[in-house]
Amino acid sequence: MTTTPVCKKTIRNVDVDGKRVLVRVDFNVPQDESGRVTDDTRIRAALPTIEYLRQHGARVILTSHLGRPKGKVVDKLRLDPVADRLSALLGQPVRKLSDAIGPEVREAVLAMRPGDVLLLENLRFYPEEEANDSTFARQLASLADLYVNDAFGTAHRAHASTEGVAHYMPAVAGLLMAKEIEFLGQALGSPRRPFVAILGGAKVSDKIAVIDNLLPKVDRLLIGGGMANTFFLAKGYDVGDSLVEVEKVDVARDLLARGGDKLVLPSDVVIADAFSAEATAQVVAAEQVPAKWRIMDIGPDTVRRYSQALQGAHTVVWNGPMGVFEFEPFAAGTIGLAHAVADLPDATTIVGGGDSAAAVEAAGVAARITHISTGGGASLEFLEGKVLPGVAILQDCE
Ligand code: ADP
Ligand code: MG
Repeated sequence: MTTTPVCKKTIRNVDVDGKRVLVRVDFNVPQDESGRVTDDTRIRAALPTIEYLRQHGARVILTSHLGRPKGKVVDKLRLDPVADRLSALLGQPVRKLSDAIGPEVREAVLAMRPGDVLLLENLRFYPEEEANDSTFARQLASLADLYVNDAFGTAHRAHASTEGVAHYMPAVAGLLMAKEIEFLGQALGSPRRPFVAILGGAKVSDKIAVIDNLLPKVDRLLIGGGMANTFFLAKGYDVGDSLVEVEKVDVARDLLARGGDKLVLPSDVVIADAFSAEATAQVVAAEQVPAKWRIMDIGPDTVRRYSQALQGAHTVVWNGPMGVFEFEPFAAGTIGLAHAVADLPDATTIVGGGDSAAAVEAAGVAARITHISTGGGASLEFLEGKVLPGVAILQDCE
């Protein structure tokens, strides 16, 4: 089953020379107590778009949210530290305003010269942002000639800055957004086959919609992580004290029936006598988990079988760790599979999900993955086949 991949116009397809461009970025970065940015990955991810626009003579007006101020001004969530870091990365001063709309902003925008970069204040200081208020969206739109969405991580939310604003001005994708749409869209729309999906993570309830959407599209679907436990229950296995969702057993049984040979479950598991990094661990067959023990990882035989199932794959989508990889004794399944994916000689490999991205980093193979999605919730919704409002509103390719 294939569908036409989503194709959106990008900043490369429009004239930006001399234009005032409002760019929605995702600068929702972690900070320490003193406000210092502790991880600037998201700021770096927006650099290609910012650099492109500057080099092509645009006036770049950046806008983002940070944290959850819930519609009020929270001094600790002002974007000044972000502007400082961005200035350092760009090697050019970035002017930071203390509002996102209003006379001060208008004046500053009018004073901009081509190549200038300006950062508006945290959008979520305004309750109108998350309410997708049309007046607020129009005020944002009035600042610029063109809207660029480069914030894939918030594209699943219809907020004023991610969706509303695009009703009032031409709207195209930034380079990061375009990359996300291209890789995820290609995989789901017209994958190079064989196409293998690997799904894990804690709960099956989080992933049912993803399995539903992927099952008809993939050649193989490999299941791991805590969510495999509910499938084991559906098959009548005892899972001891493992994490399970009893109310989802019927759904799991139905997916097993529909999936047939495509849907593969672990043959062995690593179990522990407590949910702890210091717990006693042992490997058992999946159908032989003793009472009071809990499943923490896929076993070595499963890693071997899953690695074999990946051989020859030309497209791989992975979401969700194979075990409690945060605890070293239960990381081998996830790390082993990360290597198997990274080692594939001719495959487009895509990793989505915050914990999965962290696991691939921890395995030291991130550089050998084709695309690691920057959007946790957004990539999950994309894999569910949902239309993301922040993507839908952008102009289609011609
Ligand atoms: P992602 O963020 O990549 O979408 P999830 O949030 O769905 O991934 O799942 C990640 C979490 O699943 C991790 O914190 C991991 O410890 C947990 N997990 C994986 N396997 C198990 C298991 N067998 N039992 C309990 N938790 C598990
Ligand atoms: Mg997660």
